Amino acid sequence: MTTEIQLEDIQAARERIAPHIIPLRIAESAALSKQFDREILLAHEYLQTTGAFKLRGAMNSVLQLDSGTTGVTAVSTGNHGRALAYSARKAGVPCIICMSELVPQNKLEAIRALGAETRIIGKSQDEAEIEANRLVAEEGYTMIPPFDHPHVIAGQGTIGLEMLEQVPDVDTVLVQISGGGLISGIALALKSQRPDVRVIGISMERGCAMAASQKAGKPIEVEELPTLADSLGGGIGLDNQLTFNMVRDYVDEIVLLSETEIADGIRHAYFEEQVILEGGGAVGIAALLAGKVSPGTKTIVLLSGKNIDMQLHRKIINQEEY
Ligand SMILES: *Cc1c(COP(=O)(O)O)cnc(C)c1O
Repeated sequence: MTTEIQLEDIQAARERIAPHIIPLRIAESAALSKQFDREILLAHEYLQTTGAFKLRGAMNSVLQLDSGTTGVTAVSTGNHGRALAYSARKAGVPCIICMSELVPQNKLEAIRALGAETRIIGKSQDEAEIEANRLVAEEGYTMIPPFDHPHVIAGQGTIGLEMLEQVPDVDTVLVQISGGGLISGIALALKSQRPDVRVIGISMERGCAMAASQKAGKPIEVEELPTLADSLGGGIGLDNQLTFNMVRDYVDEIVLLSETEIADGIRHAYFEEQVILEGGGAVGIAALLAGKVSPGTKTIVLLSGKNIDMQLHRKIINQEEY
């Protein structure tokens, strides 16, 4: 068992972030329960104010900064960047999000609207990373990474505590997996209390670095490909410290989905649950619909985020080309 993070750290995170977080809303899906003849519950975590669960880990990190730090920084214009910008403003801590010139204007503006400074450097993620590292080395900023950090993992793990509290007899949990911070925290929270709960990671076929790394037995890089589940893209870091081992130790299975299957999940959420989800948020539903995961007696499916471009969403709903 990995020992860096304990159940107590997740419990402490829960108290710390509680004033800033919407409690997890879990409700049965009438449509899915009927279709599978089992109890299927949806965990509506996209309700967080920045549209995704990443607020939990970012907030837990910002609230534990060393007193001497100048501020926080990250290289992310996705859900982590938004969450960090929001958390920093709430805590009154300066925040600089570094990004490349290639980042679309709407993403840049979303981060600025949340009160963070943006720094646009070079034509690649790598150059933006060099600037973030410089802020840390020369200006006293603290880097808050999106997944491979104990405070981030403990924050995301608070979802697992809430699942077990609200549904003590849950036996199967479907959680999206990318860098693995989300599933590591949730699986640790669940399995420390109920080792028999099945925790299944769901991702896309197009470039899931964690699945490839687990297969290889060590962190490896995979080619990044465009996918509807864009928030599940990216590597796990060749020098991964925590999440590779935690996924190996606590996650029962990783299931990968095609783009068509992910689109089916987005459409089901919209037409049957009246919920708008981003691709990454919908993969749990998609895995059930595709028959790639058999539900347990009581299954919780995490809906992790809703930040999708609405033009794209409309095209998927209308079955148009995108
Ligand atoms: C980041 C993210 C994930 C994956 O979380 P990891 O900790 O990287 O595994 C899943 N869903 C959404 C919406 C996300 O933003």
